[in-house]
Amino acid sequence: MTGQRVTIVGGGLAGTEAAWQLAERGFAVTLYEMRPVRPTAAHITDNLAELVCSNSMGSTLPDRALGILKNEMQRLGSLILRTAYKHALPAGSALAVGRDEFAAEITGLIGSHPNIDLRREEVTAIPDGPTILATGPLTSPDLTVDVQRLTGRYLYFYDAMAPIVVADSIDMSIAFRQSRWDKSSMDGPEEGDYINCPFDRAEYEAFVTALLESPRNELKGADAELERYFEGCMPIEVLASRGLDSLAYGPMRPVGLRDPRTGRRPHAVVQLRQDNVAGTLYNMVGFQTNVKWGQQAQILQMIPGLANAEFVRMGQMHRNTFINSPTLLHPTLQYRERDDLFFAGQITGTEGYVGSTMGGLLAGINMARLLTGQPLLVPPRESMMGSLLYYITHADPENFQPMKANMGLLPDLEERVRGKQQRYGVYAERARVALANYLAENAFTPVIQTEAEVA
Ligand SMILES: Cc1cc2nc3c(=O)[nH]c(=O)nc-3n(C[C@H](O)[C@H](O)[C@H](O)COP(=O)(O)OP(=O)(O)OC[C@H]3O[C@@H](n4cnc5c(N)ncnc54)[C@H](O)[C@@H]3O)c2cc1C
Repeated sequence: MTGQRVTIVGGGLAGTEAAWQLAERGFAVTLYEMRPVRPTAAHITDNLAELVCSNSMGSTLPDRALGILKNEMQRLGSLILRTAYKHALPAGSALAVGRDEFAAEITGLIGSHPNIDLRREEVTAIPDGPTILATGPLTSPDLTVDVQRLTGRYLYFYDAMAPIVVADSIDMSIAFRQSRWDKSSMDGPEEGDYINCPFDRAEYEAFVTALLESPRNELKGADAELERYFEGCMPIEVLASRGLDSLAYGPMRPVGLRDPRTGRRPHAVVQLRQDNVAGTLYNMVGFQTNVKWGQQAQILQMIPGLANAEFVRMGQMHRNTFINSPTLLHPTLQYRERDDLFFAGQITGTEGYVGSTMGGLLAGINMARLLTGQPLLVPPRESMMGSLLYYITHADPENFQPMKANMGLLPDLEERVRGKQQRYGVYAERARVALANYLAENAFTPVIQTEAEVA
């Protein structure tokens, strides 16, 4: 084993990825995870790397932002992605994951690794010595205070999670299986990956009216003042308040779907996506809500096909803690004023499961390089990793908000390419080449070799 011990705080997606990268490179790691001793408002299990809301890790297409990011992370040897692909569920061109099997496997691998000492304890102050802080959007309050002491400032806001339905309780004489444009991952066009609940116009208008009249959980005090939403994770009631048709153009859009009962496109749909391997649970895609739970069930049961639906989780809102990375971090993920302190995951403002994991991957690799005197990695701007890291460390600090991987972060192409599809292909290829060259120049070897080498 290599000499120095590294402390990692937080056994979520970023923390476990970082721990694996270091342990596999021969470092002794102490990984602190406070659950189950101290639960969070969103985690349900004691498992490490729990997916707290949706079970989707987004697109796998090699020319989409999350597809590019995933492929880059596989080149760097991500444990989380290798395990996610192993537990993939049918979801068209998205990587949906059997969440329990996935998290159980990560928990087993980390818990049994000879170089990792897993401690189920809350850390309340930032440790001394080589440390990676990966406590996520629900960092415990005491540690948040210490992060605030260190950084002088921190930010937080809220976003919301979608309900989960028992599959057997969906009325399939009304709802139907179909993927948009018949793009199914495994079963062929006649058996789509999604369950769709179709609305006619009258049903849709009644639903929106009831939704707007329903009571919501109020946020209190300073929380209410700081309430802000991501456009991509906005509660349905907030979207609905923007206009009668907002939902029908947003999460309830019917494009690419045909109701087999009528042969026509419905006025609106609610889509449900498989949530566990057994296929017994489905989550309501894009249906985050903060309507009070009693009324929420009643409103959701107005959805055609869900009149008798049984919900295993209602929609809810949650805190999302993150630091002001543009003023605090280097693109290596090191804290500017302390070289052996790294931040990783959602707390840095890299939003989403894959973005958060990416931070853990890079922080783990860079900590190993720091402790062995090698130059630290800063992936090139042309890559999705590099662009995301550049964004969180160079954005306007006054208006800094967490950011998902997206094509808009990539630097412009030198030559104009007509057509979005072609353009995305050129971006993707440029990213692939830039990262491959950079890794070769830095003699980088991943701890996991993958065959899912990317087109
Ligand atoms: C409710 C909710 C829903 C979300 N939904 C989605 C979604 O659908 N899709 C998506 O892509 N992203 C989603 N996100 C955003 C983000 O991708 C996830 O939060 C992701 O899990 C972040 O990874 P992480 O490793 O940074 O944090 P986490 O996975 O949350 O891991 C942090 C870990 O640190 C532990 N911890 C916290 N404080 C301490 C402490 N003081 N001592 C020891 N351990 C501590 C926590 O228990 C936790 O296990 C959601 C976030 C939240 C909060």
